[in-house]
Amino acid sequence: MKDLINQLVFVAAPILAYQAWLKPQPAESMSFLQRVLLFVLGAGSMVLCLLFPVHLASGYRVDLRLVPMTLGFLYGGRLNGSLLFLLYVGIRLLTGETGPLTASLLIYLFLLVPCYLFAPRFQAATRAGRFRFTLGLVLLALPIRIAVLTVFQPDLLYSQPLLMLGLFPFFQACGMCLSVYLVEMTREKQQLQLEHALALRNRAVGQMAAAVAHEIRNPLTVVKGFLRLLERQRELPEDKQLEYLVLMQTEVDRADQIIRDYLSLAKPDPGPLEPLRLVEEVTAVLDELAAYAVNHGATLSFENDLADEVVSGNRERVQQLFGNLLQNAIEAMPDGGKVYITATREKQMAVIRIHDEGVGMTQEELERLGTAFYSTKEKGTGLGLMVSYQIVEAMNGKLKVHSVKHQGTTFTLALPLASPA
Ligand code: ADP
Ligand code: MG
Repeated sequence: MKDLINQLVFVAAPILAYQAWLKPQPAESMSFLQRVLLFVLGAGSMVLCLLFPVHLASGYRVDLRLVPMTLGFLYGGRLNGSLLFLLYVGIRLLTGETGPLTASLLIYLFLLVPCYLFAPRFQAATRAGRFRFTLGLVLLALPIRIAVLTVFQPDLLYSQPLLMLGLFPFFQACGMCLSVYLVEMTREKQQLQLEHALALRNRAVGQMAAAVAHEIRNPLTVVKGFLRLLERQRELPEDKQLEYLVLMQTEVDRADQIIRDYLSLAKPDPGPLEPLRLVEEVTAVLDELAAYAVNHGATLSFENDLADEVVSGNRERVQQLFGNLLQNAIEAMPDGGKVYITATREKQMAVIRIHDEGVGMTQEELERLGTAFYSTKEKGTGLGLMVSYQIVEAMNGKLKVHSVKHQGTTFTLALPLASPA
């Protein structure tokens, strides 16, 4: 009995291990490493089965080696299954195990050939289809066993009919069904989790869409109001007209910004990754914001210790990130001031600090940072930091804030370096 449970554990443990480490996916889309891992687990399971068989009172030994082999074909694909089978044949030839090789090989071939043939279709089948196939295989095993034994080992068949026709096949069938059940159940659970996460995200994006629609209405209403004014009062002085136009432009820009921020939130896929020289990106954004800084009476100072350190990211997004942080720093100083930007290397990270002498934030304000539409600015969108956090997260980086009310704020951004391209 103990041996029996051992055998079941040998078969089940690799299944659990595999499902715990790796996401369920069809064999064709696995990476090389995943394939190797799958094979090693299957082989380990098979070897353990062979090493610690169930000793029966009659002196015979039985084990569940066939289960990892079959599963290897069905879930791991043809190559994986064939390799497992070859490994088994190799082990048998090496150890010179007792019992006629041809007989067991024949049994295995009869069972494994359908597995080989159906492996790709098995992967694509529905869950019910996979259960049906397993059941068919298990039922097929008995007549095949009887047929092969009648031809090759009639003495064994007659001396041990209960063992050969009842107990052992039953044991094997149980092991097989249990294993498939285990694989399918863990798969289903993982699938449900995935779907759940997706549903949550979709809901968040949906709520956000409603909020965005609401936020965009304000600038639109303002623009509409000015348009009406311009339409009604044809004789407005030119400077007044210009003033209205400028105001309308700011509102349209705001709506545009909200939509752009929202789109990058709703689509977390950063697009193609490329090696980016961090200094170049920072400098580009600084150049872009130079005029904006002057208008706000802010000076930007950049102290760079980086050479040609490279991070992996999407150019547009990385610039959006720096742009958000720098713009916030400039906007935090309504009476002007200085923004200190430093770039250094700390171990495998590039660290960019953006320090301003602006209004700073209280603990409460800090806690609300990065939540959607939290803005203390009249024309703010309250999406900039949320997008920034997301970009940083996608790059496996970190973004930390330190702030003292009325004194200033420091954003510290750490991005993992990529090996230079
Ligand atoms: P927005 O800039 O449109 O308001 P953000 O998400 O970029 O939206 O920022 C949200 C809020 O966080 C700002 O309105 C501001 O109150 C606060 N904040 C961000 N950066 C700073 C900073 N450098 N100094 C002070 N407050 C900041
Ligand atoms: Mg901002």
